[in-house]
Amino acid sequence: MIKPLLDEFSTAHGTTVNLVTGDADALLKRLQSERQNSPADLFLTTDVGRLLRAREAGLLQPVESKVLQEAIPAQYRDPEHQWFGVSLRSRVVVHAQDRVKPSDLSTYEDLADPKWKGKICVRSSNNVYNQSLVAAMIAHDGSKKTEQWVRGFVANFGRPPAGGDRDQIKAVAAGQCDLALINTYYLAGMLNASDPVEQEAAGKVALVWPDQGSRGAHVNISGAGVTKAAKNRAHAVRLLEFMVSDEAQRWYAEKNFEYPVKPGTAVSATLQAWGEFKADELSLRLLGRYNAEAVRLMDRAGWK
Ligand code: FE
Repeated sequence: MIKPLLDEFSTAHGTTVNLVTGDADALLKRLQSERQNSPADLFLTTDVGRLLRAREAGLLQPVESKVLQEAIPAQYRDPEHQWFGVSLRSRVVVHAQDRVKPSDLSTYEDLADPKWKGKICVRSSNNVYNQSLVAAMIAHDGSKKTEQWVRGFVANFGRPPAGGDRDQIKAVAAGQCDLALINTYYLAGMLNASDPVEQEAAGKVALVWPDQGSRGAHVNISGAGVTKAAKNRAHAVRLLEFMVSDEAQRWYAEKNFEYPVKPGTAVSATLQAWGEFKADELSLRLLGRYNAEAVRLMDRAGWK
């Protein structure tokens, strides 16, 4: 996905960027085992949960950069400057257009209502996106209330968790479930997919922005941090700064269907059609603080 952006950076700065891609959790493990011998200068990943894990494992180093601090709102970067958000996504509810009215639900809390019994599809609790959503709930409401919610939510599952977010959208389109929890860029990507099957499935669901009358929809980041092992630190910082430039932020918005992290950058047409939304302004580092608790809680509540 990111290759064209890196090529642009290479041309502009005369710096070759070697890109190693892979499963996000596997890359993190690799950094952990390589430690100071790692050839990586910059770790780029999705979900703040992973960036926080990298930080806690001592794999990142602080970067003092005025450019980064000015471009990125405070809640989307580490107060101690070890990780930085470069784009935003929200975890939202989609519903079957033909079986659910938008007025039938308005909050994450509503998903635990017994009226949705057998109607909800969601991916596994192993997935960091779900862990971060639950961690945010713990940060806001405490463990007890959150566990009650998770128990009610799990009781409404239409099938055991399986697949990724795109699979949940397809399951709703196919009538297996009426509601699903997904990240925004998956729906936008499917709506713009060249594969007609994906496009058709996405066309059968509609998005609900949760918690608009209260704290706002859960938001997370794609982000990056300079590794402690970085042998090309200055170049890594320059690349990170390039990623929050107007040009790179516009590219993200268009190609990746994510929300730019830099305020004032235009979003893609698909995202524009969903309208503006109120985002939860919880400091993202709290998602790390409550990650382990979220994992235990989901396990106790039977979220496989
Ligand atoms: Fe994803």
